[in-house]
Amino acid sequence: MNPPFQERRRRLLDQLVEHKLPGLAVSHLPNVRYLCGFTGSNGLLVVTHSRTVLYTDPRYTLQADEETDCAVRIVRGSLWDAVAPVRGLGFESDKLTHAAWMAASKIMPLKPVCGLVERLRMVKSEDEIRQIQDSVQVAAKAYARSLRAFRPGMTEKDLAAEIDHQVRKAGAEGPAFETIVAAGPRSALPHAKPTSQSIRTNQILLIDMGASLNGYASDMTRVVHTGTPGRKARSLYNAVLEAQLAAIDCIRPGIRAAQVDAVARRVLKEHHLDKAFQHSTGHGLGLEIHENPRLGKKDETPLESGMVVTVEPGAYLEGFGGVRIEDTVLVTKTGVEVLTPAAKELLAL
Ligand code: ZN
Ligand code: ZN
Repeated sequence: MNPPFQERRRRLLDQLVEHKLPGLAVSHLPNVRYLCGFTGSNGLLVVTHSRTVLYTDPRYTLQADEETDCAVRIVRGSLWDAVAPVRGLGFESDKLTHAAWMAASKIMPLKPVCGLVERLRMVKSEDEIRQIQDSVQVAAKAYARSLRAFRPGMTEKDLAAEIDHQVRKAGAEGPAFETIVAAGPRSALPHAKPTSQSIRTNQILLIDMGASLNGYASDMTRVVHTGTPGRKARSLYNAVLEAQLAAIDCIRPGIRAAQVDAVARRVLKEHHLDKAFQHSTGHGLGLEIHENPRLGKKDETPLESGMVVTVEPGAYLEGFGGVRIEDTVLVTKTGVEVLTPAAKELLAL
């Protein structure tokens, strides 16, 4: 059926040899999807050197057959109970619930491992890159349409609902994560949930949104102003934009994730805004909205051609407002390509 799954599992098996594991029980659903195509909500994939079996429940009999290229076992009850015991089978120790682990370890001794499939997923195939590009385009289209529908007096929730609606109308399954709309001083909260508060004129308005299209996420943040931005808002905006452009500019194969983060931080420090920037500069994305690598202080992963990451420095001034500018970018053989098409000058609505 779908050739990339076999190739992905082959690369996983290479890693299992390195870790001296006879196989891996994959319970994290995005990893299951990556390795065999199954998109259901209950699945356990066991990949060993001799075979690959997907365990799922009767609701997914047809779907599993259609989507996957491996053997499918339909199970009533606990999926783990059905797994043929394999001594020393690896399991995703950072993803399994304690209850599932208890059930599984009763049947066979398991070996904790983590991040094996995630490591494969960091570098995207050409097909995955196309999927992400499409997702980015859909999100940008929905963003532009939502801005056109914006009227002062709308609540943050109204605008977030409009964005979600436009994301679906543009062809996505839905938003890639809970849309953030934060106006005025609330924009200083990096993870603000939209409230029933009205968006008034002359406010900073921060929108962080993304689409999920064919399972692939996109992620963008833009800040607009609902009036005439004053000097403080403009200088805050320009400082963050400078940091974002500098961070994007340094991206190329071989640079470590932490170095990109350091570049953004250095620019904000020059503007005395380093203390106003408390999250990391970006993250990988793909089948999940937050994937490796993390463009943060501690991630020493060298960037590679084919990785897709966000670049999203921000600066947040309590009581005043915040600015974050976020693009989804592709690491190329020679440098970087910004996928997000939306303009980045401070737009006054
Ligand atoms: Zn975002
Ligand atoms: Zn993000």
